[in-house]
Parts: sequence; structure tokens; C-alpha cells
Amino acid sequence: MGTNYRRVLLKVSGEALMGNMGYGIDPEVVKEIAQEVAEVIATGAQIAIVVGGGNIFRGVKAASAGMDRATADYIGMIATVMNAMTLQDSLERIGVQTRVQTAIAMQELAEPYIRRRAIRHLEKGRVVIFGAGSGNPFFTTDTTAALRAAEIDAEVIFKATKVDGVYDADPHVYPNAKRFTSLTYAHVLAQDLRVMDSTAIALCKENNIPILVFDLSVRGNIHRAVMGESIGTLVGG
Ligand code: UDP
Repeated sequence: MGTNYRRVLLKVSGEALMGNMGYGIDPEVVKEIAQEVAEVIATGAQIAIVVGGGNIFRGVKAASAGMDRATADYIGMIATVMNAMTLQDSLERIGVQTRVQTAIAMQELAEPYIRRRAIRHLEKGRVVIFGAGSGNPFFTTDTTAALRAAEIDAEVIFKATKVDGVYDADPHVYPNAKRFTSLTYAHVLAQDLRVMDSTAIALCKENNIPILVFDLSVRGNIHRAVMGESIGTLVGG
């Protein structure tokens, strides 16, 4: 058993919300994530969520097809707001109090990002969902997760993915690939391991925020992770 976490930053990628579909949002998957988050909130832990948008729009991809990169990235950020509101709806339907805060002001539908206010919501047991990434093009929602985790003083980032941790080779291609139980930031950066992008890793390293990578599709994993059970791969100093 490891640490029992008090305040967690959960990064949910757009891909995770897509489930097995090729595009968009799978309502069943969103419902399951909401239920897991509700269980964790009931234990008294605080959860802030950064959502991605890759299930709807990815700036880099559109830019490689000729679109202006900054414009494409702003569209990507708007995509994350769609996911944030979907997750909010799902959580509120099962009685979890939430607030969406966006890094680009959209005051008719969400609060603007205000750090101290976000912390206050967490202290009151509300789930805070951060939308619109960092508000800046050329960044990712992984980097946003690292930034917000540092800002709200989260103890850990949960990087919920589709694999149960970080491997020394692609486990889908190499059946003998080995899963790391723990890794250092330096190792992740030097080996270019696919945990989060290097900007995000560097930010976590500088601020000493551990990252737990685990499989979101295994029911109960968010709860296990909060309880400090040894699942996935823990990246730290
Ligand atoms: N994005 C951005 N700045 C940010 C966060 C996101 O420009 O701070 C844009 C970028 O175009 C990115 C898209 O939003 O491709 C969706 O986010 P991301 O790819 O990180 O989502 P995920 O991979 O987690 O689904």
C-alpha cells in the first residue's frame, strides 16, 4: 500500500471518452468515469479534472493538413470544453457537485479559470473540471494537467489511459514487453517514453509532482489509485 491521496489532478484524454468509437463521445464510457469519480469523492478525496479534446479535434493534425496552427489549436481547446460539459452533465446527474472552469472565457456556460476559486470549490467537495486547456495554442492538455496540478497544489497527477502503465516496448507489438512499476522523470525524458509530452514531464519534475499512469477502462482503478494501491506506473523523482 502506498499513499492515500487527498487532492488529485485527473487527466482524462479525449481518446478515453471516445471508448471504442472512432470519433466523439461514448456516453456509456463517460457514465462509467463519472461513477468512479463519484465513488472517490465519497471517500473525501478532492478531484480536479483536466480533459483533452483529441476525440473531437487535434490542432497538430489539422495544421499538418494546412490549417494555421494557432487557429487549429484554439478549435482544439473548444473541443475540450465540449468534453468538460459532457462530463459535468454526467457527474451532476448522479448527484456530484461540479464546476467547469475554462481558460478561455465562455461565461455563459462556465466559470472563467480562477485559481483561488478552483481551490475553494475543491475544499467544498466539488469536482472542478478544467476546460479549454491552458488557453494557449502550441500547448497540450497534458501540459495543462501539470500546470493546474502545480497551481492547485495537487499531490499527484493521475494519467488515465488505455494501457495499464508504461512499458519498455509497445505491448501490442511485443508480447514480452515489460511494464515499469516506477520510473524517474529523467528516465522518461531521456528514453522519450510515452507518458506525457516532454513539456508536461519537465513541469512535473520541476515541481516534484508524481504522475501515476494507469488503465482507466479497468473498473475501480481511480479508487485504487487514490487509495495508493500499486497499480500502473508511478513516475517521480
Ligand atoms: N490545446 C491547445 N492548448 C492547450 C491545450 C490544448 O492548443 O493548452 C489544443 C491542441 O490543439 C490539442 C487540442 O487542444 O490538440 C486537444 O487537446 P489534446 O490533444 O491535449 O487532447 P488529448 O490528447 O488529451 O485528447
